[in-house]
Amino acid sequence: MIKEIKTSLYCSWCLSEAPTLITYIGDSIVKMECQSCGHVYRISKASLYSSILSEWEKRALTKPLRLAEEIRNHPSRFVLSFPFRVLSKPFRVTKELAQAYLKS
Ligand SMILES: [Zn+2]
Repeated sequence: MIKEIKTSLYCSWCLSEAPTLITYIGDSIVKMECQSCGHVYRISKASLYSSILSEWEKRALTKPLRLAEEIRNHPSRFVLSFPFRVLSKPFRVTKELAQAYLKS
């Protein structure tokens, strides 16, 4: 889900075309780093979070089917684990991404 791509872009800090490291989360660019002068362009956190949320919405589409299967196989276990699961999943995804973003 996190990709780094090396390309060549015009840097407005060192005023030349330089090798640039682009970091993506999902389909969104979150960071561009000029390898010549080291200048880092960061993309706003608002757009980062909106891409995390849309990614989670895509994953959640398969969830009702899996849950229905589980109710059928283990009705009592399902009742106990349901609230925790629904709450913990998006939180965990967001936390992983946030940590990866802060480290980079
Ligand atoms: Zn530069």
